[in-house]
Formats: sequence, C-alpha cells, structure tokens
Amino acid sequence: MKKWVRKTGYVVDTICFPNVEIMKTERGWWKDRAKLDRFIGATQADKNLKTACAEAGITRKEWRHFVNVHPSFPHLRRNCKWVIAHKAHNITSIFDLPPPKISKQKLAIFKKRFQEHEEEEARIRREKKIQKLRQPLPPLDIVIITAPCDHCRENVKIATAGNAHDDTRFGPEYFSKYEINTAKKHGAHLQRVLATDNIQKPHWANVCWRCQKVIDLPTRIWKYNCDAMFGLYEYERIH
Ligand SMILES: [Zn+2]
Repeated sequence: MKKWVRKTGYVVDTICFPNVEIMKTERGWWKDRAKLDRFIGATQADKNLKTACAEAGITRKEWRHFVNVHPSFPHLRRNCKWVIAHKAHNITSIFDLPPPKISKQKLAIFKKRFQEHEEEEARIRREKKIQKLRQPLPPLDIVIITAPCDHCRENVKIATAGNAHDDTRFGPEYFSKYEINTAKKHGAHLQRVLATDNIQKPHWANVCWRCQKVIDLPTRIWKYNCDAMFGLYEYERIH
C-alpha cells in the first residue's frame, strides 16, 4: 500500500487559530482557502458551527472530513470565545486580572455539580454497603496545567477535570479515586485537606508543593483552565 505523507498546504494564523498547519489536499474543500477563512471569520465573530459552515459554504460532512485531517481544530474552535474575551481585555498574565468573577449561571453549574456529586457519593456509599465494592465513576477529561501558584508563584501542576464537550471545569474535590490516582501519576500535587473556607468538609485539593497553599476556589480552577486553553500555560489532557 502506498504510504500517504502529510504535507502542509498552508498555515493560518489568527487570534483563535495561531500558526495552524493546514494539510495539502487535492480534493478537500479547504483547498479553497477563502472557504476556511470565512469559517474562521464566522467562528471568531462568535457564530456557531452550523452558521460557520453555512458561511464557508460547506456541509457538516465536509466539516467532519476536515476534522479527521485536523483533529486539533475543533478544540481551538471551542476555546475561541475565551480567547477573544481575553484579547478584548488585553490580558497576557493572570496577575493582570481583576479578582475573578463568575457568572450566576456558572456558579449554578458548580453548585449543581457539587450537589450531584454529593448525591453520587451517597449512592455509592449505599451501593458499597450492599456490594462491599465501590464502582469507579466514569473517567472524565482530566487536564493537568503547569502554572504559577498565585501565592508564591512557583510553578505547580494543577489538576482540573470536566466534560470535554462543554466548558464545565472543577477541581479534585469532585474526583473519583481513579481520577485522583491518574492526576497524581501525571505529576499533580494533590493532597487530602481539612475543611477550608470554600469547601466545608475534608476533601482532595490541588496544593502548592512549595508554600502549601490550597487551590480550591472554583473560580481559580476555572481561570487556570481558561488561561491554559488561551495558551498562557502548558497543559496536558488525559483521556
Ligand atoms: Zn505556592
């Protein structure tokens, strides 16, 4: 069988799609760069996938074909909103930011998640009593971010998790045993801590290995994650 060699056709370089190599194609729709430019333009104007495809003049099938060849593209597309928001405030570092703000909507999501987690824990405890076996929670999308501790500024590996398909993020207080172990294996400095101002019970948390500061504010986790997606910090995604 003839080996297919990937060759770069051209490179796009915009706010949300920095220095992205677009593969050479004979028949793919992205051969017409104007189509991809229209797609990117629509995405950066906060249009959804359907509208962006329509503006580029491509079908959903054609979009999926493009994604198969450029798997990092959908990830950049999903983070575009945040990148634009960061740029609008001319932010280059988390230390330039005002104290983190979080919308009521997001706060409600965190609260709901917390409540769900409590219910899940209770359910598992009940199950455990019956089976004497704890079933692991389905693994989530874990992201390990290397970023400065906001107290001593030493680089720390911060573990966050969430659903890869929406932008809900939370810290290790909600992790299952499996997720705790996985995050630790990837270098996250997780510790069991006592009740804090934010979580009124013992829980797992990201702790700075140097100054021992606990990072358990949902808004901090959220911000570290956004900044990592924005490209300020290195991160590793574990599936
Ligand atoms: Zn520290």
